[in-house]
Amino acid sequence: MSKYIPVIGLEVHCELKSNSKNFSTGKNGNGDVNTNLSVVDIGYPGILPCVNKEAVKKSIMVALALNSTVPEKLTFDRKNYYYPDLPKGYQITQLHDPVGVNGSIKIDCNGVTKEIKIHDIHLEEDAASMEHFSDVSLINYNRAGVPLLELVTEPCIESPEEAVAFLEEMRRIYQYADISEADTKKGQIRCDVNVSIMDKDSNELGTKVEVKNVNSFGNVYETIKYEIERQSKLKDEGRYDEVVQETRRFDEETGTTIRMRTKADAIDYKYFVEPNIPKFKIDSNLVEEIKKCIPVLPNERKIKYINEYGLSEYDANIIIKNKEYADYFEECVSLGMDKKIVANYLIVQIIAYLNKEAISLNEFYLKPNLLNQIISELEKGNISSKQAKDIFNKALEEEKEPKNFISKDNAQISDSNELTIIIDNILKNNTSQVEAYKGGKTNLFDYFVGQVMKETRGKANPSLTKEILKDKLDN
Ligand code: ADP
Ligand code: MG
Repeated sequence: MSKYIPVIGLEVHCELKSNSKNFSTGKNGNGDVNTNLSVVDIGYPGILPCVNKEAVKKSIMVALALNSTVPEKLTFDRKNYYYPDLPKGYQITQLHDPVGVNGSIKIDCNGVTKEIKIHDIHLEEDAASMEHFSDVSLINYNRAGVPLLELVTEPCIESPEEAVAFLEEMRRIYQYADISEADTKKGQIRCDVNVSIMDKDSNELGTKVEVKNVNSFGNVYETIKYEIERQSKLKDEGRYDEVVQETRRFDEETGTTIRMRTKADAIDYKYFVEPNIPKFKIDSNLVEEIKKCIPVLPNERKIKYINEYGLSEYDANIIIKNKEYADYFEECVSLGMDKKIVANYLIVQIIAYLNKEAISLNEFYLKPNLLNQIISELEKGNISSKQAKDIFNKALEEEKEPKNFISKDNAQISDSNELTIIIDNILKNNTSQVEAYKGGKTNLFDYFVGQVMKETRGKANPSLTKEILKDKLDN
């Protein structure tokens, strides 16, 4: 056990889905380099920002979904600094009246539930993106002005595992609320990671180091792990004064962090209220309206799956991990399929298939109505679970409706009259085995089951077969 308690706070930026930019009519979305921009985004003289109502609504939705307090009025502030990816010379953000304060997210980490406190959530704009080459840097202004939601946690995270659990839950909520794809691979989520350590018996926070722009959850994990080790080692060696308040970056190649600038070089942003955007009131009716539009979030769905549908926590966790899975599952249930059978199919067959083919559930051929053709026959006992799997695979392979592969002649025999006739015949032809069984050799039971399967070429319903056999042999 380490002598120190790690203290971690995250600042997470997420690009919002919207038609246009946060303060202009420039398009937010894919496009050729330097085509999605307006004069506002590239900082022409005399420009005036215009607030994107959709982005404000989405931000309020997130604030509410994360149990935050939404203020009665919103203001925007100017954060002044010069950088080539920021042509206006300032970023419009929120310092004084952010869209949400005092929020929280519940996470499950190593079997323990913990509430992570959120200091605030604020709406701002993204900068342009740059690509650096040996002798030239290129700037693409398509990203300049894209609505960006920044979430700032309190310094209450204590391990890299908790940090990742938090980020995953946050991303799920964003995806369920449909405010962003929240795809780290597309650069839609970027994270500043603050790390310090403190003595076990102290309640005074240590000196924090900020690691900027970490671009994947895996790298957030590595960053925190590395920083805890680095700071602990310095402290162990009596060199804690070398841990200074500074900004570092994560180096993927070495798995270490590298100093960028110290506090002495810290930038003074000279914030002031953005004079070109009036303070505006958030009507309580609007807040109520948005509240009603928040979809059922992952945690609520999980509770329903466990308590109402009788799924195990393990299965429920897999299904809610991805909104597509949860939506698919619920559509199946609404078609009347057995909840446990569907959950099992989704987890064992479907997700494995998606992983193997590297496709998403949206691209999966067997939509719930098609899967139903298999599951309903399975539930009626017309086909065995082995046959169901074969039909599932054939339907996928040939992209043909499963019903094409369910024929009378491979149907399972679940008619007890029909099975009784077959079983009576078998017992009549195996009198010596029947004698032996009745004399105590009860392990012959499987022999009789085998005979029935042989006779029916595997189509006899196994549980019904056993039931009839037991009845005949034991009475
Ligand atoms: P700054 O003034 O340097 O921006 P803030 O207090 O605004 O610092 O916090 C920025 C982020 O750093 C927040 O996510 C916060 O939780 C985190 N943080 C603050 N103090 C510490 C600390 N001692 N150790 C780790 N993280 C911290
Ligand atoms: Mg910011």
